[in-house]
Amino acid sequence: MGDDLPRTADVVVIGAGIVGCSVAFHLAAAGAGAVLVLDREDAVGRGSTGACAGGFRQQFTSEVNIRLSQASVPMILRFTEEHGIPVDVSQDGYLFLVSDAAAWAGFLSAVELQRSLGVEVEVLEPGAVGALVPGIDTRGLVGATFGPNDGIADPAALTQGYATLARRAGANFALETPVTAIEVDRSGALTGLRTSGGAVAASAVVLAAGAWSGALAATAGIELPIEPVPRVVVTTGAFPGAPQRRTLVIDAASSFYFHREGDGVLMGMGGHDATTFDTTVDERFVNEELVPRAVAVFPPLAEAGIHSRWAGLYEMTPDRLPIVGPAPVDGLWIAAGFSGHGFQHGPIVGKVIAESITGATASVDLSALSLRRFGTGDLTSEGHVV
Ligand SMILES: Cc1cc2nc3c(=O)[nH]c(=O)nc-3n(C[C@H](O)[C@H](O)[C@H](O)COP(=O)(O)OP(=O)(O)OC[C@H]3O[C@@H](n4cnc5c(N)ncnc54)[C@H](O)[C@@H]3O)c2cc1C
Repeated sequence: MGDDLPRTADVVVIGAGIVGCSVAFHLAAAGAGAVLVLDREDAVGRGSTGACAGGFRQQFTSEVNIRLSQASVPMILRFTEEHGIPVDVSQDGYLFLVSDAAAWAGFLSAVELQRSLGVEVEVLEPGAVGALVPGIDTRGLVGATFGPNDGIADPAALTQGYATLARRAGANFALETPVTAIEVDRSGALTGLRTSGGAVAASAVVLAAGAWSGALAATAGIELPIEPVPRVVVTTGAFPGAPQRRTLVIDAASSFYFHREGDGVLMGMGGHDATTFDTTVDERFVNEELVPRAVAVFPPLAEAGIHSRWAGLYEMTPDRLPIVGPAPVDGLWIAAGFSGHGFQHGPIVGKVIAESITGATASVDLSALSLRRFGTGDLTSEGHVV
C-alpha cells in the first residue's frame, strides 16, 4: 500500500474475490492494458468467496442463470487441464429433495426449462433417492431432481488460480488497500478512485466488491440494490453412515444442504435472512434449527460432532440474480450481487466483462442482468436459491 500503489491504470478492479480475480485475468490476457486489482484484505478470496461451499450446478429456474452455468462450469472443470494449476473438483451431482406438492410442480417446470436448454437432469422417485445417497430419510418426499453433471470445486484454489494467471498476464494486485470512493468529475465522467493509499486515475473501473459493492457505488451516486445476508456453514468430523459420494443434497423446504467434506460433511441452511454485515455465528440457530433439520433430513448426522463453523455473506439482489454490465457512469462496470451463486458464475462473468471492456463479442448475452432492470419493475426472480 502507499508508495507502491500505481497512480494510474487502464482498468482498476475493486475486489479480489472469485469475480475480481477472474475479471483481472481475462482483462490482462485480452491485452486490456495496465490492470490493477485493489482489495482491502491482505490476501485474495477473503470476502464471501472465502466462506463459500464451492457448489456448481445447472439446476436453476431462470434461463440466464442456466446459461451462465453452462458457460462457467466447463471453465471450472477444465481449469487444471487448461492452465496447469490444480483445482480439486468432484462431479457427483446436486440432489434437490422436495416434500411439498405445490413446490414439486415448480421443480418439474424448472426441469422442463433446464431440459429445453440442453441440461441433463433426472426426476427421481423417493425410492431412487435412498439408493443414490443411502441414509436420507425419504419418508414424506414427493420426489427429487438430480443433476448428474453438477458438483463441487475448491473456491480458494480457483480464486488463487485466477489471481496467479492474472499476475502472469501482467495484472498488478495492491492488497490492504481499501477503496474509499469512486471518483466522478462534474460532467459525470469517471476519473478514477480514492483509496487509503491515495488516488488512482483510471479510464475504466470494475466494481466486484461483492456484498460491499452498494456503499462504493453510492460514492458515484449510483444506487445498487445489494444487501448482505449472513449464511452459516458447519463441518462435522467422521461419523458412522457418512455419505460416500460428494453429492450436494438440498432439502428444498428448509434450504438445508450437505455434502461430504473430509471424513464428515459440510452443511448449511438459510435462516431468517437478516440484512447485516455481522458474520458472528448464531449458535442458537446452529443448535436449535440447523442441527435438528440436519438430523431429520440425514439421520446418521445424529452421531456427528461439530468440527468447525463460520458465517459469510450472501449478496442478495431483489430478484436473486447478479448485476453485470455497464453502470450509469461511463467507464464504470458492475459485477456483483450474485445472491449466493457467484463462485460458480465468477469464471464466465469475468470473461464477459473483459470482452465488454475490450470491445470483443460477448460469449454469453448478459443484457438480462443489467442494473436498468430494477427501473422497469419487470423482474423474474431466481427460485432455486440455496
Ligand atoms: C456460506 C456461503 C456458501 C456459499 N456457497 C456457494 C456455492 O456453493 N456456490 C456458489 O456459486 N456460490 C456460493 N456462495 C456465494 C459465493 O461465495 C459468492 O457469490 C461469491 O464468492 C462472490 O464473489 P465476489 O468476488 O463477487 O465477492 P467477494 O468474494 O465477497 O469479494 C469481494 C472483495 O471485495 C473486497 N472489498 C470490499 N469492499 C472493499 C473496499 N472498499 N475496498 C477494497 N476492497 C473491498 C473484499 O475484501 C472482498 O475480497 C456462498 C456464499 C456463502 C456466504
